Amino acid sequence: MPRPPALSPSRAGDFQQCPLMFRYRVIDRLPEPPSAAATLGTLVHSVLEELYDLPAADRTVEAAQARLEPAWRKMLEKDPRLAELHADPFLEREWLADGRDRIATYFTLENPQRLEPAGREEFVELQLEDGPLLRGIVDRIDIAPDGAIRIVDYKTGKTPDPRWGEKKERFQMRFYALVIERLRQRRPALLQLLFLKDGGRLEIRPTEGDLQQIEFEIREIWGEITAAAEAGRFRTRKSKLCGWCSFQDACPEFGGAERPLDPDAVERALGVRPLTA
Ligand code: SF4
Repeated sequence: MPRPPALSPSRAGDFQQCPLMFRYRVIDRLPEPPSAAATLGTLVHSVLEELYDLPAADRTVEAAQARLEPAWRKMLEKDPRLAELHADPFLEREWLADGRDRIATYFTLENPQRLEPAGREEFVELQLEDGPLLRGIVDRIDIAPDGAIRIVDYKTGKTPDPRWGEKKERFQMRFYALVIERLRQRRPALLQLLFLKDGGRLEIRPTEGDLQQIEFEIREIWGEITAAAEAGRFRTRKSKLCGWCSFQDACPEFGGAERPLDPDAVERALGVRPLTA
């Protein structure tokens, strides 16, 4: 059964970055080539998730690093397209070495022998009243003996510069804080992002005002998305991030022709039918 339309932090971020990119990704579901960085993120996340299946005393850096390559072989079996990433075995070895480095950095930030997560890769969904269905996957949820909730997210990239970065990360974490607060009837005490490339850490202690603000922002973004869907018009927003966009061939900003919009696909993806259709 297809899932009902929902908004996740990454989809909201896609729309804010460029409505046309959002459309191609979410509505047209155009295929995109796998990215080495995103795949490394998925791989490291799966190792850190499985690490907590081991008895606490066995959660060592060596044990975690030893799981990396078998986890990668399993990912390749499931999705053979990923083999495109590393035609050269030397580059594949380098990439796996990067993964082991990320895991080693993780152990400088936390001691997994002293943690017993309450949730790992937890799928969460919340229907906002008169608003969108919110959806996402929370990397880890910890609950202290006094019931205090901590949400933890692993990033395989480096710590963003607070002067122009962090916005996306703060949005994501406050989005999850809102969802968890509503689902568990308790506001998370701490939101923690761990950056495994350089060992950085970003901590947010969300206030009631933060969560009111994020709810407002989410409703606003959803309003813009549904307005674009009703108008059948997803504009381009050119930026330096276009360099990483897979859809330049179908983007007028780069001389490509925008694809015709399928109203049925819009309705399936967003639950809204273009008024012009
Ligand atoms: S190339 Fe840039 S402007 Fe064009 S769709 Fe991609 S992100 Fe948007």
